[in-house]
Amino acid sequence: MIIGIPKEIKTLENRVSMTPGGVETLVRRGHSVLVEKGAGVGSGLMDEEYVAAGAAMVSAAEAWGAEMVIKVKEPMAAEYQYLRNDLLLFTYLHLAADEAQTKALLAGGTTGVAYETVQLADRSLPLLLPMSEVAGRMATQVGAHYLEKTQGGRGMLLGGVPGVAPANVVVIGGGVVGTNAVKIAVGMGARVTVLDLSHARLQYLDDIFGSRIITMSSTEPNIRAAVKEADLVIGAVLVPGAKAPKLVTREMIGTMREGSVIVDVAVDQGGCIETTKATTHDKPTYVVDGVVHYGVANMPGAVPRTSTFALVNQTLPYALKLAAKGVDALREDPALLAGLNTYKGKLTCPAVGEALGIPA
Ligand code: NAD
Repeated sequence: MIIGIPKEIKTLENRVSMTPGGVETLVRRGHSVLVEKGAGVGSGLMDEEYVAAGAAMVSAAEAWGAEMVIKVKEPMAAEYQYLRNDLLLFTYLHLAADEAQTKALLAGGTTGVAYETVQLADRSLPLLLPMSEVAGRMATQVGAHYLEKTQGGRGMLLGGVPGVAPANVVVIGGGVVGTNAVKIAVGMGARVTVLDLSHARLQYLDDIFGSRIITMSSTEPNIRAAVKEADLVIGAVLVPGAKAPKLVTREMIGTMREGSVIVDVAVDQGGCIETTKATTHDKPTYVVDGVVHYGVANMPGAVPRTSTFALVNQTLPYALKLAAKGVDALREDPALLAGLNTYKGKLTCPAVGEALGIPA
């Protein structure tokens, strides 16, 4: 199959959908890979590395002219011109919140397989997982940064020093993001409390981290007490398919010490902190009641070198199946079939149809 790898054109998006290693694997299986010139530069991957791996370096139009296009982000308006009915598009689509793009994909008759709805039998989402791992680890790192005085924080070192207590880190939601945030916070020497509704998750975290963390059931009084004592609160809850519940109220924020920090990773689902609003990498923080808030919705974009490799590690096995069999690969793999969002001008993902009021 002929596979196209366009350069990402979304603002400040530096990831690329295929590494030179991935290209080499595809080429060894007999496929042709067309990579847009400069596509990997933002992730530190040079054209020469792609050429050495067997890719041809091409223009955007040529990359989009391939039988299958693999991307990171959804097509931007300027890319709608490339959508056609014999194109297989494999990327994050996030259609539920994007009517214009959905209409463009349907009008083009494009087969759209969305990373975020590829789902395994245990209901896990293997192509969302790597970005949650990145965002979770970053959350603690970012929180530590904004606790510095020059960044508006309390002027506190997360791990303290001998003779001086460390910071209190409270993680709400102990799933993939939460567990990764806890791991880094524990590693940095912070005092860590994690709250979750799921007893199984708390059991797991207790097994993994033992007495180095405190686990608490996510009830209103427990959240209130933990937030009051926190120097850093990390929001990491997810109720699949729904908006995040507002677990930390404005009034609870008022009980926090001045210069404390909130990193609400769940911001892409509306945030689990009442005072959260979405921010961007160019202006990531704002202050409410003396508390520094960070609400960047695409945190992994700040570490493209890590995120690109983490993403390709997970997408490549699926890309290989699609390259080998095209749309027939969907019939053989229920996980990939769950990823199908648009096909021959029809919406094929019920959750997206429900969100947009279009029959699926
Ligand atoms: P996950 O499903 O692995 O974990 C979510 C956890 O929240 C689960 O353990 C669940 O039991 C828990 N939870 C649900 N309701 C709760 C409640 N009321 N109180 C406490 N815990 C509760 O999900 P994840 O992969 O960790 O993702 C978490 C959030 O981070 C999602 O909204 C995801 O979209 C977001 N995310 C954001 C970025 C970013 O850049 N901002 C990147 C990746 C993921």
